[in-house]
Amino acid sequence: MSTQMSKDIGCPHCGAAIRTQMWPGICAQDNPELRGRVLDETLFDWKCPECGYAAQFVYPCLYHDRERRFMVYVVPNGSGREFQPVDVGEKFPQLAGVKKRVVSSPAELKEKILIFEAGLDDYAVELVKYALAGVLDKKYGGKTLEGYFCFADEGENRIGFSFFPEGGKDPVLRKTSMDAYKKSLEIAKSREPDEGNRFVPVDALTAKDLLEEYRSDKEQETQKGI
Ligand SMILES: [Zn+2]
Repeated sequence: MSTQMSKDIGCPHCGAAIRTQMWPGICAQDNPELRGRVLDETLFDWKCPECGYAAQFVYPCLYHDRERRFMVYVVPNGSGREFQPVDVGEKFPQLAGVKKRVVSSPAELKEKILIFEAGLDDYAVELVKYALAGVLDKKYGGKTLEGYFCFADEGENRIGFSFFPEGGKDPVLRKTSMDAYKKSLEIAKSREPDEGNRFVPVDALTAKDLLEEYRSDKEQETQKGI
């Protein structure tokens, strides 16, 4: 079930109080049109009917896909890392076995939906993205600020991402083979932390930690001559 509420929002431009409809809870099956608005990035669009001022108005929102068994909680204004993980195990034991993620922006929500709808593992996707971002950083000598999963195509053996390099340059599309994903999946499967029944962030920092642990284990194995 999706939940809807209305609230008066003061227009930052003209000050008018605008009755605004919000969706703190979205169910993909009950409201496919809301899923569509997340994917075309219009769900959080806000426009003042008095003066025409337009902006994004992002509020906490829980997205639930019952059939594919995942939930994504958008906690705006900050990184998902500032979010205190909530153990929902006691209150909602029925959520065990449902993937639960916390993100900080609508773009990250969209990315999680695309990843899970494609049947992919988001730890592995983050690993591939992390590696590609590293290559871009070397090429452009800057920092890649953001990167998002775009598509995966088994037949074409391709997985694609768009990256946003530092300095507001145009987004860069980067593709690699699904073999890179499969290799990352092996690493992810051997390393995935126990999430318990909690909402957790799975992002670039997660990928970095996973990779460092994996490499230090490999080094130890080499030293021991395994
Ligand atoms: Zn206004």
